[in-house]
Amino acid sequence: MATMSSPATTLIPFNRPGSAPNEAAYLSEVLASSTRCGDGPFTKRCQALLESGTGAAKALLTTSCTDALEMSALLLGIRPGDEVVVPSFTFVSSANAFAIHGARIVFCDVRPDTLNLDERRLEALISPRTRAVVVVHYAGIACAMDEILAICARHQVAVVEDNAHGLFGGYRGRALGTLGRLATQSFHETKNFSCGEGGALLINDPALVERAEILREKGTNRALFFRGQVDKYSWVDVGSSFLPSDILAAVLLAQLEHRAAIQTHREAVWRRYDGALAEWAARLGVRRPVVPAHCASAWHMYHLLMPSLAVRSAFIVHLRQRGVMAVFHYLPLHLSVMGRRHGGAPGDCPVTEDVSDRLVRLPLYNSMDAAIQDAVIAAVLAFAP
Ligand SMILES: *Cc1c(COP(=O)(O)O)cnc(C)c1O
Repeated sequence: MATMSSPATTLIPFNRPGSAPNEAAYLSEVLASSTRCGDGPFTKRCQALLESGTGAAKALLTTSCTDALEMSALLLGIRPGDEVVVPSFTFVSSANAFAIHGARIVFCDVRPDTLNLDERRLEALISPRTRAVVVVHYAGIACAMDEILAICARHQVAVVEDNAHGLFGGYRGRALGTLGRLATQSFHETKNFSCGEGGALLINDPALVERAEILREKGTNRALFFRGQVDKYSWVDVGSSFLPSDILAAVLLAQLEHRAAIQTHREAVWRRYDGALAEWAARLGVRRPVVPAHCASAWHMYHLLMPSLAVRSAFIVHLRQRGVMAVFHYLPLHLSVMGRRHGGAPGDCPVTEDVSDRLVRLPLYNSMDAAIQDAVIAAVLAFAP
Protein backbone atom coordinates (compact mmCIF):
# COMPACT_ATOMS: atom_id res chain seq x y z
CA MET A 1 0.00 0.00 0.00
CA ALA A 2 1.34 3.42 -0.92
CA THR A 3 2.09 5.77 1.92
CA MET A 4 0.71 9.26 1.63
CA SER A 5 1.27 12.34 3.73
CA SER A 6 -1.91 13.54 5.35
CA PRO A 7 -3.56 16.12 3.12
CA ALA A 8 -4.48 18.08 6.26
CA THR A 9 -0.81 18.95 6.91
CA THR A 10 -0.28 20.41 3.44
CA LEU A 11 -3.59 22.18 3.11
CA ILE A 12 -3.66 25.90 2.44
CA PRO A 13 -6.54 26.97 4.66
CA PHE A 14 -9.31 29.24 3.50
CA ASN A 15 -8.70 31.50 6.48
CA ARG A 16 -6.22 31.97 9.29
CA PRO A 17 -7.04 34.36 12.13
CA GLY A 18 -4.77 37.40 11.90
CA SER A 19 -2.41 38.63 14.58
CA ALA A 20 -0.80 42.00 15.16
CA PRO A 21 2.53 43.12 16.65
CA ASN A 22 1.23 44.49 19.96
CA GLU A 23 -1.22 41.70 20.75
CA ALA A 24 0.94 39.87 23.30
CA ALA A 25 2.07 43.10 24.99
CA TYR A 26 -1.50 44.38 25.34
CA LEU A 27 -2.66 41.01 26.63
CA SER A 28 0.07 40.99 29.29
CA GLU A 29 -0.92 44.50 30.24
CA VAL A 30 -4.59 43.68 30.70
CA LEU A 31 -3.82 40.45 32.55
CA ALA A 32 -1.51 42.32 34.95
CA SER A 33 -4.03 45.10 35.52
CA SER A 34 -6.96 45.11 37.90
CA THR A 35 -9.57 45.40 35.11
CA ARG A 36 -10.79 42.51 33.00
CA CYS A 37 -14.50 43.24 32.76
CA GLY A 38 -16.04 45.19 29.90
CA ASP A 39 -15.65 48.92 29.28
CA GLY A 40 -12.08 48.97 30.60
CA PRO A 41 -9.26 51.05 29.09
CA PHE A 42 -8.75 48.80 26.03
CA THR A 43 -12.47 48.86 25.22
CA LYS A 44 -12.41 52.67 25.40
CA ARG A 45 -9.41 52.84 23.08
CA CYS A 46 -11.03 50.49 20.55
CA GLN A 47 -14.21 52.56 20.59
CA ALA A 48 -12.30 55.84 20.16
CA LEU A 49 -10.37 54.34 17.24
CA LEU A 50 -13.56 53.09 15.56
CA GLU A 51 -15.14 56.53 16.00
CA SER A 52 -12.17 58.45 14.61
CA GLY A 53 -11.48 55.83 11.94
CA THR A 54 -15.01 55.92 10.52
CA GLY A 55 -16.59 59.17 11.71
CA ALA A 56 -19.44 57.36 13.49
CA ALA A 57 -20.97 59.44 16.29
CA LYS A 58 -20.53 56.58 18.78
CA ALA A 59 -19.02 53.09 18.76
CA LEU A 60 -19.81 50.46 21.40
CA LEU A 61 -17.95 47.14 21.47
CA THR A 62 -20.20 44.09 21.66
CA THR A 63 -19.57 40.37 21.98
CA SER A 64 -20.45 39.81 18.30
CA CYS A 65 -21.96 41.37 15.20
CA THR A 66 -25.04 39.27 15.95
CA ASP A 67 -25.37 41.01 19.33
CA ALA A 68 -24.92 44.43 17.71
CA LEU A 69 -27.71 43.52 15.27
CA GLU A 70 -29.91 42.48 18.19
CA MET A 71 -29.18 45.77 19.92
CA SER A 72 -30.27 47.48 16.68
CA ALA A 73 -33.58 45.62 16.79
CA LEU A 74 -34.10 46.69 20.42
CA LEU A 75 -33.13 50.31 19.69
CA LEU A 76 -35.56 50.46 16.77
CA GLY A 77 -38.31 48.96 18.96
CA ILE A 78 -38.94 46.02 16.62
CA ARG A 79 -42.09 44.16 17.70
CA PRO A 80 -44.29 41.30 16.45
CA GLY A 81 -46.12 42.43 13.33
CA ASP A 82 -43.25 44.61 12.10
CA GLU A 83 -41.49 43.79 8.84
CA VAL A 84 -37.77 44.02 8.16
CA VAL A 85 -36.32 43.78 4.66
CA VAL A 86 -33.12 41.70 4.49
CA PRO A 87 -31.14 40.49 1.47
CA SER A 88 -31.58 36.76 0.96
CA PHE A 89 -27.86 36.44 0.20
CA THR A 90 -26.41 37.06 3.67
CA PHE A 91 -25.50 35.45 6.97
CA VAL A 92 -28.35 34.19 9.17
CA SER A 93 -27.83 36.87 11.85
CA SER A 94 -28.82 39.74 9.53
CA ALA A 95 -32.34 38.27 9.68
CA ASN A 96 -32.40 36.41 12.99
CA ALA A 97 -31.64 39.45 15.15
CA PHE A 98 -34.96 40.93 14.01
CA ALA A 99 -36.91 37.65 13.77
CA ILE A 100 -36.14 36.93 17.44
CA HIS A 101 -38.13 40.08 18.32
CA GLY A 102 -41.10 38.92 16.30
CA ALA A 103 -40.47 40.70 13.02
CA ARG A 104 -41.47 39.09 9.76
CA ILE A 105 -38.47 38.95 7.45
CA VAL A 106 -39.10 40.11 3.88
CA PHE A 107 -36.37 38.86 1.56
CA CYS A 108 -34.91 41.10 -1.12
CA ASP A 109 -32.90 39.72 -4.02
CA VAL A 110 -29.37 40.94 -4.77
CA ARG A 111 -27.82 42.63 -7.79
CA PRO A 112 -26.10 40.23 -10.21
CA ASP A 113 -22.93 42.38 -10.29
CA THR A 114 -22.05 43.35 -6.69
CA LEU A 115 -24.29 40.71 -5.04
CA ASN A 116 -25.60 43.50 -2.79
CA LEU A 117 -29.27 44.17 -2.00
CA ASP A 118 -30.90 45.18 -5.29
CA GLU A 119 -32.13 48.73 -4.76
CA ARG A 120 -34.34 48.42 -7.87
CA ARG A 121 -36.39 45.74 -6.12
CA LEU A 122 -36.50 47.41 -2.71
CA GLU A 123 -39.42 49.84 -2.89
CA ALA A 124 -41.89 47.15 -4.01
CA LEU A 125 -41.11 45.21 -0.81
CA ILE A 126 -41.84 48.10 1.57
CA SER A 127 -45.26 48.09 3.27
CA PRO A 128 -46.81 50.24 6.00
CA ARG A 129 -45.43 47.64 8.47
CA THR A 130 -41.80 47.94 7.31
CA ARG A 131 -39.62 49.27 10.12
CA ALA A 132 -36.09 48.63 8.88
CA VAL A 133 -33.98 47.65 5.88
CA VAL A 134 -30.76 45.74 6.53
CA VAL A 135 -28.02 46.16 3.94
CA VAL A 136 -24.84 44.07 3.68
CA HIS A 137 -21.82 45.45 1.81
CA TYR A 138 -20.88 42.09 0.36
CA ALA A 139 -17.13 41.37 0.34
CA GLY A 140 -16.59 44.94 1.59
CA ILE A 141 -18.01 46.65 -1.53
CA ALA A 142 -20.76 49.18 -0.87
CA CYS A 143 -24.44 48.81 -1.73
CA ALA A 144 -26.09 51.52 -3.87
CA MET A 145 -26.56 53.64 -0.77
CA ASP A 146 -27.81 56.87 -2.38
CA GLU A 147 -30.77 55.03 -3.89
CA ILE A 148 -31.41 52.89 -0.79
CA LEU A 149 -31.23 55.86 1.61
CA ALA A 150 -33.61 57.88 -0.59
CA ILE A 151 -36.18 55.07 -0.70
CA CYS A 152 -35.94 54.50 3.06
CA ALA A 153 -36.21 58.24 3.83
CA ARG A 154 -39.33 58.47 1.64
CA HIS A 155 -40.98 55.67 3.66
CA GLN A 156 -39.47 56.63 7.04
CA VAL A 157 -37.77 53.27 7.39
CA ALA A 158 -34.48 52.91 9.30
CA VAL A 159 -31.39 51.59 7.51
CA VAL A 160 -29.13 49.21 9.41
CA GLU A 161 -25.79 48.42 7.78
CA ASP A 162 -24.62 44.90 8.56
CA ASN A 163 -21.05 46.04 7.93
CA ALA A 164 -19.36 42.78 8.96
CA HIS A 165 -17.37 42.77 5.69
CA GLY A 166 -16.95 46.49 5.20
CA LEU A 167 -14.96 48.13 8.01
CA PHE A 168 -12.73 50.89 6.54
CA GLY A 169 -14.36 50.58 3.12
CA GLY A 170 -15.97 53.62 1.51
CA TYR A 171 -18.84 54.86 -0.66
CA ARG A 172 -18.50 58.15 -2.54
CA GLY A 173 -15.93 59.33 0.01
CA ARG A 174 -17.95 58.30 3.07
CA ALA A 175 -16.99 55.46 5.41
CA LEU A 176 -19.08 52.29 5.38
CA GLY A 177 -20.77 52.01 8.75
CA THR A 178 -21.69 55.70 8.83
CA LEU A 179 -24.42 55.65 6.17
CA GLY A 180 -27.22 53.88 8.05
CA ARG A 181 -28.87 54.99 11.28
CA LEU A 182 -27.01 52.08 12.87
CA ALA A 183 -24.23 49.80 11.66
CA THR A 184 -22.77 46.59 13.01
CA GLN A 185 -19.23 45.20 12.84
CA SER A 186 -17.85 41.70 13.37
CA PHE A 187 -14.50 40.78 14.87
CA HIS A 188 -15.02 37.04 14.43
CA GLU A 189 -11.84 35.21 13.44
CA THR A 190 -12.91 35.09 9.78
CA LYS A 191 -13.00 38.89 9.46
CA ASN A 192 -10.21 41.36 8.57
CA PHE A 193 -9.74 42.32 12.25
CA SER A 194 -10.52 39.76 14.91
CA CYS A 195 -10.38 38.89 18.58
CA GLY A 196 -11.90 35.42 18.12
CA GLU A 197 -15.47 36.53 18.75
CA GLY A 198 -16.40 40.19 18.94
CA GLY A 199 -18.34 43.01 17.37
CA ALA A 200 -19.34 46.64 17.57
CA LEU A 201 -22.40 48.78 17.16
CA LEU A 202 -21.82 52.07 15.33
CA ILE A 203 -24.48 54.65 16.16
CA ASN A 204 -24.95 57.46 13.67
CA ASP A 205 -28.09 58.92 15.22
CA PRO A 206 -27.00 60.67 18.45
CA ALA A 207 -30.55 60.33 19.82
CA LEU A 208 -29.98 56.55 20.17
CA VAL A 209 -26.69 56.68 22.09
CA GLU A 210 -27.94 56.94 25.67
CA ARG A 211 -30.45 54.10 25.28
CA ALA A 212 -27.84 51.94 23.53
CA GLU A 213 -25.55 52.27 26.55
CA ILE A 214 -28.42 51.22 28.83
CA LEU A 215 -29.47 48.20 26.71
CA ARG A 216 -25.86 47.01 26.57
CA GLU A 217 -25.42 47.27 30.37
CA LYS A 218 -28.30 45.01 31.47
CA GLY A 219 -30.91 47.75 31.29
CA THR A 220 -29.14 49.89 33.87
CA ASN A 221 -27.94 53.49 33.65
CA ARG A 222 -24.48 52.40 34.75
CA ALA A 223 -22.72 54.37 32.00
CA LEU A 224 -24.32 57.60 33.24
CA PHE A 225 -23.27 56.67 36.80
CA PHE A 226 -19.62 56.18 35.80
CA ARG A 227 -19.66 59.56 34.08
CA GLY A 228 -21.07 61.15 37.26
CA GLN A 229 -24.34 62.10 35.54
CA VAL A 230 -26.47 60.20 38.10
CA ASP A 231 -25.53 59.38 41.74
CA LYS A 232 -26.58 55.72 41.68
CA TYR A 233 -27.41 53.27 38.94
CA SER A 234 -30.52 51.15 38.70
CA TRP A 235 -32.83 49.18 36.44
CA VAL A 236 -34.35 51.64 33.98
CA ASP A 237 -35.10 49.66 30.79
CA VAL A 238 -34.92 46.21 29.23
CA GLY A 239 -31.42 45.14 28.32
CA SER A 240 -28.86 42.39 28.29
CA SER A 241 -25.12 41.95 28.63
CA PHE A 242 -23.70 42.82 25.25
CA LEU A 243 -20.22 43.99 26.30
CA PRO A 244 -17.05 41.97 25.82
CA SER A 245 -14.24 41.55 28.34
CA ASP A 246 -11.34 44.01 28.18
CA ILE A 247 -9.11 40.96 27.53
CA LEU A 248 -10.72 40.63 24.08
CA ALA A 249 -10.53 44.38 23.57
CA ALA A 250 -6.76 44.23 24.17
CA VAL A 251 -6.34 41.80 21.26
CA LEU A 252 -8.71 43.82 19.11
CA LEU A 253 -6.94 47.11 19.80
CA ALA A 254 -3.63 45.68 18.58
CA GLN A 255 -5.31 44.61 15.33
CA LEU A 256 -7.18 47.86 14.78
CA GLU A 257 -3.99 49.87 15.37
CA HIS A 258 -2.33 47.71 12.71
CA ARG A 259 -5.16 48.43 10.24
CA ALA A 260 -3.11 50.27 7.61
CA ALA A 261 -0.72 47.33 7.18
CA ILE A 262 -3.53 44.75 7.30
CA GLN A 263 -5.63 46.54 4.68
CA THR A 264 -2.65 47.27 2.42
CA HIS A 265 -1.69 43.60 2.49
CA ARG A 266 -5.21 42.35 1.82
CA GLU A 267 -5.54 44.78 -1.07
CA ALA A 268 -2.27 43.50 -2.56
CA VAL A 269 -3.39 39.86 -2.28
CA TRP A 270 -6.79 40.72 -3.80
CA ARG A 271 -5.24 42.63 -6.72
CA ARG A 272 -2.70 39.90 -7.36
CA TYR A 273 -5.47 37.30 -7.65
CA ASP A 274 -7.44 39.59 -9.89
CA GLY A 275 -4.55 40.19 -12.28
CA ALA A 276 -3.21 36.64 -12.30
CA LEU A 277 -6.62 35.05 -12.93
CA ALA A 278 -8.03 37.53 -15.47
CA GLU A 279 -7.10 35.68 -18.65
CA TRP A 280 -8.00 32.25 -17.21
CA ALA A 281 -11.36 33.57 -15.98
CA ALA A 282 -12.23 35.12 -19.35
CA ARG A 283 -11.36 31.88 -21.13
CA LEU A 284 -13.53 29.74 -18.82
CA GLY A 285 -16.46 32.14 -18.49
CA VAL A 286 -15.66 32.72 -14.80
CA ARG A 287 -16.65 36.12 -13.43
CA ARG A 288 -14.28 38.07 -11.18
CA PRO A 289 -15.59 40.50 -8.49
CA VAL A 290 -17.22 43.72 -9.69
CA VAL A 291 -16.13 46.89 -7.85
CA PRO A 292 -18.03 50.03 -8.98
CA ALA A 293 -15.78 53.08 -9.44
CA HIS A 294 -17.35 55.00 -6.54
CA CYS A 295 -16.70 52.17 -4.04
CA ALA A 296 -13.50 51.83 -1.98
CA SER A 297 -13.29 48.14 -1.14
CA ALA A 298 -12.59 46.92 2.38
CA TRP A 299 -10.79 43.94 0.77
CA HIS A 300 -12.69 41.35 2.77
CA MET A 301 -12.77 38.50 0.27
CA TYR A 302 -11.90 37.35 -3.24
CA HIS A 303 -14.72 35.44 -4.89
CA LEU A 304 -15.38 33.96 -8.31
CA LEU A 305 -18.66 33.13 -10.04
CA MET A 306 -18.24 29.84 -11.87
CA PRO A 307 -20.35 29.08 -14.97
CA SER A 308 -22.49 26.44 -13.20
CA LEU A 309 -22.94 24.46 -9.99
CA ALA A 310 -21.33 21.43 -11.62
CA VAL A 311 -18.23 23.40 -12.60
CA ARG A 312 -18.01 24.93 -9.13
CA SER A 313 -18.20 21.52 -7.47
CA ALA A 314 -15.47 20.19 -9.77
CA PHE A 315 -13.35 23.31 -9.11
CA ILE A 316 -13.58 22.94 -5.31
CA VAL A 317 -12.61 19.24 -5.58
CA HIS A 318 -9.75 20.11 -7.96
CA LEU A 319 -8.34 22.72 -5.55
CA ARG A 320 -8.76 20.41 -2.58
CA GLN A 321 -6.73 17.72 -4.37
CA ARG A 322 -3.97 20.32 -4.74
CA GLY A 323 -4.15 21.20 -1.04
CA VAL A 324 -6.14 24.41 -1.40
CA MET A 325 -9.28 25.03 0.63
CA ALA A 326 -11.79 27.08 -1.36
CA VAL A 327 -15.32 27.40 -0.05
CA PHE A 328 -18.75 28.45 -1.22
CA HIS A 329 -20.80 30.96 0.73
CA TYR A 330 -24.36 31.84 1.76
CA LEU A 331 -27.29 29.57 1.00
CA PRO A 332 -30.42 31.55 0.07
CA LEU A 333 -32.05 32.56 3.36
CA HIS A 334 -35.53 32.65 1.82
CA LEU A 335 -35.30 28.91 1.05
CA SER A 336 -34.06 27.85 4.51
CA VAL A 337 -36.38 26.18 7.03
CA MET A 338 -36.83 29.50 8.85
CA GLY A 339 -36.97 31.54 5.66
CA ARG A 340 -39.91 29.49 4.41
CA ARG A 341 -41.73 30.14 7.71
CA HIS A 342 -41.32 33.83 6.92
CA GLY A 343 -42.96 33.28 3.56
CA GLY A 344 -39.93 32.56 1.35
CA ALA A 345 -40.53 30.35 -1.70
CA PRO A 346 -38.47 29.15 -4.69
CA GLY A 347 -38.23 31.79 -7.39
CA ASP A 348 -38.64 34.76 -4.99
CA CYS A 349 -34.97 35.78 -5.30
CA PRO A 350 -33.70 34.28 -8.57
CA VAL A 351 -30.30 36.01 -8.54
CA THR A 352 -29.58 34.78 -5.00
CA GLU A 353 -30.65 31.26 -5.95
CA ASP A 354 -28.35 31.35 -8.96
CA VAL A 355 -25.21 32.93 -7.49
CA SER A 356 -25.33 30.93 -4.28
CA ASP A 357 -24.83 27.80 -6.44
CA ARG A 358 -21.94 29.27 -8.45
CA LEU A 359 -19.90 31.38 -6.03
CA VAL A 360 -16.57 30.23 -4.60
CA ARG A 361 -14.15 32.08 -2.33
CA LEU A 362 -10.37 31.72 -2.54
CA PRO A 363 -8.08 31.76 0.52
CA LEU A 364 -7.34 35.33 1.63
CA TYR A 365 -5.95 36.09 5.05
CA ASN A 366 -3.67 38.58 6.78
CA SER A 367 -0.63 36.30 7.02
CA MET A 368 -0.88 34.94 3.46
CA ASP A 369 2.51 35.31 1.79
CA ALA A 370 3.46 35.36 -1.90
CA ALA A 371 4.59 31.71 -1.95
CA ILE A 372 1.26 30.51 -0.56
CA GLN A 373 -0.64 32.70 -2.97
CA ASP A 374 1.49 31.43 -5.88
CA ALA A 375 0.46 27.89 -4.95
CA VAL A 376 -3.22 28.87 -4.93
CA ILE A 377 -2.91 30.69 -8.26
CA ALA A 378 -1.08 27.75 -9.86
CA ALA A 379 -3.79 25.38 -8.65
CA VAL A 380 -6.53 27.62 -10.03
CA LEU A 381 -4.81 28.04 -13.41
CA ALA A 382 -4.45 24.25 -13.69
CA PHE A 383 -8.24 23.89 -13.65
CA ALA A 384 -9.98 23.27 -16.95
CA PRO A 385 -13.44 21.71 -16.77
C1 LIG B 1 -19.68 37.31 10.10
C2 LIG B 1 -20.99 37.94 9.79
C3 LIG B 1 -21.98 38.13 10.77
C4 LIG B 1 -21.89 37.56 12.14
O1 LIG B 1 -20.85 38.05 12.88
P1 LIG B 1 -20.63 37.51 14.37
O2 LIG B 1 -19.63 38.48 14.92
O3 LIG B 1 -20.11 36.11 14.26
O4 LIG B 1 -21.94 37.58 15.07
C5 LIG B 1 -23.14 38.81 10.43
N1 LIG B 1 -23.32 39.28 9.19
C6 LIG B 1 -22.42 39.09 8.22
C7 LIG B 1 -22.69 39.65 6.86
C8 LIG B 1 -21.23 38.40 8.49
O5 LIG B 1 -20.35 38.20 7.50
